[in-house]
Amino acid sequence: MTKIYHLDSGPMRPYWPKITGVTYVLLVETNQGWLLVDSGFGTQDFSHPSFFMKWFLKLLRIPNDPSLCIVNQIGKFGLKTEDINHIVLTHLHLDHAGGLADFPKAQVHLNRRELDAAIKRRGLLGLGCLPYHWAHKPNWQLYEQTDTTWFGFPAIRLNGFTPEIMLIPTPGHTLGHCMVVIQTDSGWLLNCGDACYPFYLNESEQYVSPPQKLVQLILGNYQPKIAALLEKHGDEIEILTSHDPVTWAKNQ
Ligand SMILES: [Zn+2]
Repeated sequence: MTKIYHLDSGPMRPYWPKITGVTYVLLVETNQGWLLVDSGFGTQDFSHPSFFMKWFLKLLRIPNDPSLCIVNQIGKFGLKTEDINHIVLTHLHLDHAGGLADFPKAQVHLNRRELDAAIKRRGLLGLGCLPYHWAHKPNWQLYEQTDTTWFGFPAIRLNGFTPEIMLIPTPGHTLGHCMVVIQTDSGWLLNCGDACYPFYLNESEQYVSPPQKLVQLILGNYQPKIAALLEKHGDEIEILTSHDPVTWAKNQ
């Protein structure tokens, strides 16, 4: 049975817009040791935040609490820092790559295009990448597009993993953004990262559906394609997005 744990590295409760969100990190047991999908916030984000990080945490009202860092959460699963061998990243934004430095020996799997763009701080949302998150020179494993597909989506298979793990390139939110899909006992778990909503809940605990134009601008135009995928294969695919508090709560 594949073990997958759903962690929150940063609960978000901004005053405006008045919404609730999480900072999703998955902890997965594989044949090559434990693996994280995204890394949330790291210890240095709380001890020595950059100016941008400080304001990000403040605006989203993320608690200034180092126990939220994944390195401080894995103990409850009986794991130590050195048990995390792999980190797969959807993209390099500050709320996804913050924890990298807490696992300096882990292999970090990433779309090559994302690292190139982040180093040059390219693209609309390039400013959300903070170079101090990879100043320790991670052990990058960089990937390029192959002929593989997953339910019609172009996909990149990470070699040698059980369960099977794939990157699904979805440029838009960032230039090298990828969704991450993991094989489970009943089908697939699709982590959409920041390629689509649902994202947040409003005050009456309803999902907020942002205006389509805004979604396309900030996330790319993947919502209809993912909705069509779920309509056809919803019985074999479980879905989550990086800030979805409902799926997170269901898995606690
Ligand atoms: Zn992002």
